[in-house]
Amino acid sequence: MADIPQNHPRYESLVTRDLIVDGVKNGITAIHGLTAHGRGEAFDYLIGEKTIEMAVCAQRAAVAMLLLAKKPVISVNGNTAALVPEGIIKLADFTQSEIEVNLFHRTETRVHRIVNHLKSKGAHDVLGQYGDAKIDLSHGRGIVDKNGIFSADVVLVPLEDGDRCQTLVGMDKKVISIDLNPLSRTSNSSTISIIDNVLRAIPNMIEFAKVMKSNNNHSLQDVIDSYNNREALSSAIYEIGENLKSHAIENNIPWNHFK
Ligand code: ATP
Repeated sequence: MADIPQNHPRYESLVTRDLIVDGVKNGITAIHGLTAHGRGEAFDYLIGEKTIEMAVCAQRAAVAMLLLAKKPVISVNGNTAALVPEGIIKLADFTQSEIEVNLFHRTETRVHRIVNHLKSKGAHDVLGQYGDAKIDLSHGRGIVDKNGIFSADVVLVPLEDGDRCQTLVGMDKKVISIDLNPLSRTSNSSTISIIDNVLRAIPNMIEFAKVMKSNNNHSLQDVIDSYNNREALSSAIYEIGENLKSHAIENNIPWNHFK
């Protein structure tokens, strides 16, 4: 990792970039993961690099959904494995979820590397190596484990691609996505769309899970029933608009030219 001065105004962002770059160097993250990360950074900038209120509601509802699920699975790709490996393991533990490696640019070597990486961080079982079932997709994401994503009722998909999200929803699964882009096909087709950075979302969800795991099914269902995903998307788009407007006003840029 490069020596980044802690007083650099974009210290956290640079450290995060290094995690992704190291993921690529270690053969965990596909090179394409760099561009996906860049798109995420751009949306994080627009959203103010903070967790908005409706994302907190989405995170709480998502945890309730995982806790109520019969067979919850957390899908992991190369970016997620590089950014939040320990967080994924903890969240899986508190919500009794399986972890499955599922890759768009799938190679067996990379699947094994990610499985080993997660195991080195404390995961016991990691699915994704069997690839003994197929879902209706023409790329690597279509190869899944029969005992994992294929038979799951709820799938958490951080940093998803829209195709697979739509396919999983089409299979009557509940899909929880974490994607900073409220305009993506993923965010618009998920059952619960968490518009937040995976680096902030996963720790928040762990805290919710610690508390909510002892809640009864009724109260978990209430949390889900009182959540509205269209409102969550709308509030993320509104937040971006407001951020652009205040930036323009603060910097004396005529905002009304955008009318
Ligand atoms: P879709 O197919 O859903 O329209 P896409 O083609 O943009 O999405 P990808 O190219 O796979 O999907 O991009 C990955 C997505 O992950 C992007 O939408 C980006 O905003 C999001 N993303 C990247 N890094 C992060 C992160 N750290 N936290 C949350 N989301 C992220």
